[in-house]
Amino acid sequence: MIKLRSLILCLTAIAAAMVANPQIESVGVAGDGEFTRITVASKSPLSSEVFMRESDNGLSIELVSPDYTVMSDAFYGEPTGGVLAYTLDQDRIIFELEQPMMVSRELELPPVGEDGLHRFVLDLTQVSEARFSQAAQRDQKRFVRRTNTVEKVPALLSAPAIVKADAPSVKPSGFSAVMLAAARQRHTVVIDPGHGGRDPGALAYGGGEEAEIVLQTSLLLKQLLEKDPRYDVRLTRESDVYVEHEDRVTKARNWGADLFISIHADAAMKPTVSGASVYTISTRGEARIEGAAKKYGWELPLEDGTSDAVSGILKDLMVRETKSNSSIFAGFLVPELGQAGPLLRNTHRQKNLFVLLAPDVPAVLVEIGFLTNKADSKRLKSKRGRKKSAEAIKRAIDAYFDRQDLLLVTN
Ligand SMILES: [Zn+2]
Repeated sequence: MIKLRSLILCLTAIAAAMVANPQIESVGVAGDGEFTRITVASKSPLSSEVFMRESDNGLSIELVSPDYTVMSDAFYGEPTGGVLAYTLDQDRIIFELEQPMMVSRELELPPVGEDGLHRFVLDLTQVSEARFSQAAQRDQKRFVRRTNTVEKVPALLSAPAIVKADAPSVKPSGFSAVMLAAARQRHTVVIDPGHGGRDPGALAYGGGEEAEIVLQTSLLLKQLLEKDPRYDVRLTRESDVYVEHEDRVTKARNWGADLFISIHADAAMKPTVSGASVYTISTRGEARIEGAAKKYGWELPLEDGTSDAVSGILKDLMVRETKSNSSIFAGFLVPELGQAGPLLRNTHRQKNLFVLLAPDVPAVLVEIGFLTNKADSKRLKSKRGRKKSAEAIKRAIDAYFDRQDLLLVTN
């Protein structure tokens, strides 16, 4: 659900210059190589830059943090999950990789609970060698620039501490929350044709019903997406059946949706009103997310024993990231829809809509036009008009995932 998203979230107002050097209290590695999480806990925020590196010595991820120190009783977790070994060098921690893995998420979490520790979290996901190599090449420039500007600080450690896979290990205490971020190369797009069965939706000028018209557009969009190897595509309904609102969201979450697009067509009292519009969740709708997630079991998978404080922060982060991604997608969608037909003014709108309530799936509802408008109705019912709408949505999907992938690679 969270795959291939990259994000740097800084919860803390960083006054890094004013605090003492961050003292590392523990380094932990957990995971299975498909998804692996590195957690570095420190007394104050660890301001770090992360680089993917490829050299004669193999693949590595370097966390450059020039002013860090290490507590005398620091805990070093055993490397696992595709991390062969890690070295705490003067100004950086080098994680040697067994296989190509990239940073799909970078989080800085403020202290929660009693230990008062800041956590720098890197989520790694397995990628192809080519993809890693591409990322390492991109990072190379930034790495050189960084290395040239970093002033060498006095040695804080007499010798680098090297932790290998056979190091003795004690389970680190504290942070136990794991967001299950499955990482795949492909993106799962869930298309939700509105209405169906006993709910025909709006009636079209000149005949026809919304449920059938949006189903046809959805099926065409499915065809377009299926031709593209980047996507797995699912429809919440593929025939004239009624699907409950909560089931539409539940299906999308169970399929591991990266993007949810509900397709509708509008109706208005005035026959002159025309054009497409896009909805994302409103502030009011957002306030319903937690309750709906509890009620329908859309909660984030967290490890047993995760404290309420930690899970609260993770949930909050996820909802915010999801909302922001929904808006980004809406931003791509509006101009593309404008290529397919007229747009309603204030094209991107917010509404308290049930199908947009998943806490962790970016979602929009698109009204592809007004069935009560003669020209729109004709357009939406014609093969040519349908194709234009579907192609417009496909272009927006491409743009959105191009951006997501680029964020991943450049991070
Ligand atoms: Zn509708």
